[in-house]
Formats: sequence, C-alpha cells, structure tokens
Amino acid sequence: MPTISTNIINDGNKFPPKHLEDSHVREIVRQYCDNLEPSYSEERGCKVCGRLTIGTQLTSKTSLDIDWNILARPGEGITRKERTSSSDPIEEFKGPIVASKCTEVCKDCEEELKQDKIPKLSLANGMWLGDVPEVLKNLTWAEQLLISRALTNNYITRVSMGRGGYKMKANAIIFANPSAKIYKHLPPPKKRSGRDLSDYFHWSSQTH
Ligand SMILES: [Zn+2]
Repeated sequence: MPTISTNIINDGNKFPPKHLEDSHVREIVRQYCDNLEPSYSEERGCKVCGRLTIGTQLTSKTSLDIDWNILARPGEGITRKERTSSSDPIEEFKGPIVASKCTEVCKDCEEELKQDKIPKLSLANGMWLGDVPEVLKNLTWAEQLLISRALTNNYITRVSMGRGGYKMKANAIIFANPSAKIYKHLPPPKKRSGRDLSDYFHWSSQTH
C-alpha cells in the first residue's frame, strides 16, 4: 500500500512545518487516490480455506505451481453430495476439496501448499461445508436461529486484579436446538398465521 512520506508532511521534526508546495499537495492527493483503489479494500474468498481476504493478499490459482492433489481426500467423508431423498446414495465429490467459485489463494494457504502441507484452516482439513443452497441464502436473523442446530452464548468479562492489573475470563455455552420439534411446527397452518397477523395488526392499530 502506498504511504505518504513523513518528510512531505512535516519536513522532518521542524516545527512549525513549512507550507506545503503544490507538488507535495498533488503527491498526497495522488497517494490518497491510490489507497482508495478497490484492490486495497475489496475482499474475495480464498479457494483453499474460503476466508474472505483483501485482494492484494491473494494470488491467482493459475499462476501457482502447486500439486492440488494434496487437497483430494477420497473416502474420508469430508464432502458429501446433496441428496433429495433418503434413498439417494451417499457420495463424495471427486477431486481436490476447494471452494468451487473462488479462483485465488491467500498467502497463508499458498505458503503451506508450497511445502506440500494441507493448510490448517483449509476446507480439505475437515472445514468443508459446500455451497450454500439458494433457499438458505439471505435468511433473516430469526430464520437463522430457527434452522441452526445449536444456539450459542458467549460471555467475556474483564476481571480487575487490583494494582492496575486486569485479566479476561470467558466461557461459551452451546445448547442443542430442538430442530425436529421446530420442523413439525413449521410452517404454521394458514388458519393460525392469519389469526396471528390479525392479532398483530389489531394490537398495532391500538398502540399508534
Ligand atoms: Zn486460504
């Protein structure tokens, strides 16, 4: 990322600084514009680990000399093809386990792959989830709560140790969501939805 020279801004450590010359002002504006280039802020997914990464930290897959077969792990049950009925066979995807729609690799993954290692956070290391189905994209917060298989609560507390010292204490609690019960109750019958909606509108018209 371009940086503005401190000599341009304050002429070393002299105070008060001299007025900026026009050429310096133009240089600052030019560097400011360079820093606003999309490549310095735009994030794209890494093909190997799927993490969103700044564009300047990504390398095109085609320019890498890497043995991609290291990411293929047949028979280990890491991937699974979508099934539309319980009678469909359970099958894995063939080939390297990568994010199908991404074309670039982040620096962390690149370094490990060049050493013929499976990156720790890669999809091939048990992190694979597959493409998100259309029906599960853009869900509201309430919908995400309903379909999640577990509910999590995290608590972080700063504890004073006296004499100005502090430490952090944290815990996480995970409750299994009663998914089966929710599936049986959703979607509610039209008759009940209509009644709930009419109750809601009746209540809002009274409160406004
Ligand atoms: Zn990566």
